Amino acid sequence: MKLLEERIKRDGVVKSEGVLKVDSFLNHQIDVNLIDEMGAEFARLFADAPVNKILTIEASGIGIACLVARHFGNAPVVFAKKAQSINLDGEMYSTKIQSFTHGRIFDVIVSKKFLSPEDHVLIIDDFLANGCALNGLIELVEESGATVEGIGIAVEKGFQHGGDKLREEGYHLESLAILESMDPNTGEVVFRENA
Ligand code: 5GP
Repeated sequence: MKLLEERIKRDGVVKSEGVLKVDSFLNHQIDVNLIDEMGAEFARLFADAPVNKILTIEASGIGIACLVARHFGNAPVVFAKKAQSINLDGEMYSTKIQSFTHGRIFDVIVSKKFLSPEDHVLIIDDFLANGCALNGLIELVEESGATVEGIGIAVEKGFQHGGDKLREEGYHLESLAILESMDPNTGEVVFRENA
């Protein structure tokens, strides 16, 4: 999506640890118009999918998912919660996710009230790197018996290969910008064609 690629080129900051900071429009301050355009693009890309629920993970996925949901008939947004320690009382679906940015492993939970076998889920997140966050979210959906209709990502870092694996597994994954490389010395970012 040209609009997002141009914004990344203009305002993204390449960090040395393979991390792109997009704090000025996606992760700290949010450009609502941009995310709204992204929502419209996801609606076009997933037009054939019978989505009735959006699933994301706290915290940075929530704002994006809420604006995307406006383009899917105001489907409810469920966000997986990160918990330090959990009481597995049978009321929650749970899994573990290794955080890319913090290196830690989190327990992640979704209440059984909010995902069930009738649900057709679009998973939304801000970034895709190694795929740990998405694998965890997919596990939660599978545990609930719901269907993963698709996965929509704002920025995929293609050189970290989580996306390639998910596509090979057959998921309908759409990333609005796919980075082929980024250089912390020059700040240069290169995008995959036709993302
Ligand atoms: P993965 O689990 O695919 O390795 O990493 C994805 C998760 O880590 C996303 O939910 C996102 O919050 C965070 N993340 C991964 N790479 C980046 C990055 O380059 N910049 C930012 N801001 N977050 C990232």
